[in-house]
Amino acid sequence: MKEYGLYIDGRWVPSASGRSFATTSPATGEVLATFGEGGREDVEKAFKAASKARMKWRSFPAPKRGQILLNAASIMARRKEELGALVTREMGKVIAEGKGDVQEAIDFLEYIAGEGRRLLGETTPSELPRKFCMTVRQPVGVVGLITPWNFPFAVPCWKLGPALVSGNTVVYKPASLTPLCAATLAEILEEAGLPPGVLNLVTGPAGRVGVPIVEHPGIKAISFTGSVASGKDVYTRASAMLKRVALEMGGKNPQIVMDDADLSLAVEGVLFGAFGTAGQRCTATSRLILHEEIYDETLERLLSRTRSLKVGDPLDPETDVGPVSSPDQETKILRYIQTGKEEGAKLLTGGKKLIGDAYDKGFFIEPTIFEARHGMKITKEEIFGPVLSVIKVQDYEEAVQVANDVEYGLSSSIYTRDLNLAFRAIDELEAGVTYINAPTIGAEVHLPFGGVKNTGNGAKEAGSTAIEEFTEIKTVFIDYSGRLQKAQIVE
Ligand code: NAP
Repeated sequence: MKEYGLYIDGRWVPSASGRSFATTSPATGEVLATFGEGGREDVEKAFKAASKARMKWRSFPAPKRGQILLNAASIMARRKEELGALVTREMGKVIAEGKGDVQEAIDFLEYIAGEGRRLLGETTPSELPRKFCMTVRQPVGVVGLITPWNFPFAVPCWKLGPALVSGNTVVYKPASLTPLCAATLAEILEEAGLPPGVLNLVTGPAGRVGVPIVEHPGIKAISFTGSVASGKDVYTRASAMLKRVALEMGGKNPQIVMDDADLSLAVEGVLFGAFGTAGQRCTATSRLILHEEIYDETLERLLSRTRSLKVGDPLDPETDVGPVSSPDQETKILRYIQTGKEEGAKLLTGGKKLIGDAYDKGFFIEPTIFEARHGMKITKEEIFGPVLSVIKVQDYEEAVQVANDVEYGLSSSIYTRDLNLAFRAIDELEAGVTYINAPTIGAEVHLPFGGVKNTGNGAKEAGSTAIEEFTEIKTVFIDYSGRLQKAQIVE
């Protein structure tokens, strides 16, 4: 078992407190590695290293910065099997999804590396003769990145890629459940050629590491992905210091199925959307909104498919659903299942913690389906586990009204063969992402990703918008007339 410190200024160093914590497998309880437990003092050290590295990294040509990301992508591609297994062992998603997490990171680094040859500004005519106008993009400075545990390779790369290619240096805090993936990523970036001090990794709890990053006066921008409760705290502290803040938060994503839909397709979609990653995706389908005409038939098919899902060892390629990621997650999900029963939702399948030999050392919950009424707590709050609420509606209008009546707005989906309804749904569903005839999960890295309402604050990650978070636009005027020209002043 490896013992890690903190990665500061290109070296692994012990935490100031001398304390450490372990990362364990949620399937077996195996201790995978230990990490230094960072604190405010370590964040200060990481900031100083990032600050010292800043000017040199900023003046390193952007295409060469991009090349380092490409190198990292190819190292990851070479090690994909091993890294996918690492994701699975540390976070618990099934092995195909573990490898998918790594593939998403590779795809994104390859995509964003090209930004090193763009980082586009604009040129435009001046209102005055012999004057040239343009904009250039500049890095923000030292930026703070804070990530969750559910995509321990992809989400960090969604932030690190654009931050680094734009010329920023970084203080990075990963989720305390997945520091080993983060440390491995730091090692890969070092091997890829990232100079010391450009990326500094401080592991440790939210209060001791996350809050000091958010509150550090020298860290100019914060990019956060996690729950709404944590995001509100991050936003409150950072905005009080007038920092740039980008927030990507939770979801309560609906899949609508209309009476004309291909029901087989819709059922396979919701199975993948609701129970993939044991429901622990920000885009997971947690509400299935069914038209009354196809309600019984869809439910029957869905229940039969759900009961056939294999829950167990996530490293076994035959397994459909792995463990949830921690005892806290397990407790929270089981509490929501209890709430669902208490508020009168009908438990159709699942609902229990799995026990017995293969399950006793981990956190396994049966794929669970409730027949629910819109408005119940389980239909409004993010559960972040393998729990689906099915809601019956009379028509399209009611389906959209139910879909929109939550505080979140990340992903959404509708299954229909009616082109008019599909386009109306694109207009009317309040979400950052809408899928037609596909489940609520399935982001592609070259498209912007992010939510509306309480899911986000307007920032979009990935795609052409990825660098917005990490660059400042400077407007430049070049007067080559040789005389004083006064804009807007008529003489
Ligand atoms: P979380 O508890 O909010 O934690 C996210 C990260 O923030 C962790 O690194 C955590 O540290 C840190 N943190 C928590 N409170 C903080 C604070 N007040 N100040 C600074 N840092 C703080 O979320 P999670 O349980 O890891 O992840 C699940 C959530 O993420 C779900 O709500 C999911 O929907 C959301 N998510 C959203 C997206 C998206 O793109 N919209 C993608 C993935 C996940 P510790 O780990 O040390 O507590």
